[in-house]
Amino acid sequence: MAREFTDLSKLCVHTITTKTWVIEKAAQEFSAAGIGGITVWRDALAGRDIKQTGNMLRGLNLEVVSLCRGGFFPALEQSARQAAIDDNKKAIDEAEALGAPMVVLVCGSAPGQSLIESRKQIQDGIAACLPYAEAAGVKLAIEPLHPMYAGDRSAVNTLGQANDMAEALNSDWVGIAVDVYHLWWDPDLENQMKRCGQNGNFSAFHICDWKTPTLDMLNDRGLMGEGVINLKQIRGWAEEAGFNGFNEVEIFSNIYWQQDQHQFLDKIKDAYLRYS
Ligand code: ZN
Repeated sequence: MAREFTDLSKLCVHTITTKTWVIEKAAQEFSAAGIGGITVWRDALAGRDIKQTGNMLRGLNLEVVSLCRGGFFPALEQSARQAAIDDNKKAIDEAEALGAPMVVLVCGSAPGQSLIESRKQIQDGIAACLPYAEAAGVKLAIEPLHPMYAGDRSAVNTLGQANDMAEALNSDWVGIAVDVYHLWWDPDLENQMKRCGQNGNFSAFHICDWKTPTLDMLNDRGLMGEGVINLKQIRGWAEEAGFNGFNEVEIFSNIYWQQDQHQFLDKIKDAYLRYS
């Protein structure tokens, strides 16, 4: 079982979780709450000086945990695959300017070709970006997504597949983001988390909950404790795998986005301390 948390120093909140707050407001509120980290979604940076924004976050004692997101490598046309590589290099530039050590990858999947071909294109796309990532000092974290997204969002659907890919790429600049929402159901999860840690690839840990019923495939994630994920057990496996980084709350929710975000943040803090 996982260690109990008594403070919020290892809690990180994604800007998309409190989507209706601009990043400046979110940062002030997270900092005032004693939250230790922030993961920034690229849309939150629109129209801003990225370097200054990074300084603003650090000035509020927030650690910039990662930038979300790059990826979407597979496509039927070569020109589209090249455009994806170019966009990932842009994301790496943004992470470097922000002072984020990592870009999280939603790897992509192209309808009209096999998942095997899409996975090959993902691996090739990451490989093409690696020299650029290394020069910038930014890691690329493969995030396996739940199989319900295999059609168009990610052909990497299990931690086993992500481990295979990260080990094949074999670079200090490739890691894996383990998100309990995507992986909780996998009977091989404990073993694959162990393998991920042993190979030095366990780079990020995302938390929320899986609600029953789930009303929307994308935007109905639950707060920790609100659904069926045994989060304490999975976080215990993360600790056993050697992971001691941030616990990143990443909740897309049409329901919570409509609520008062102060109250929502209070619920996040409470749920983090009680259920994660
Ligand atoms: Zn995630």
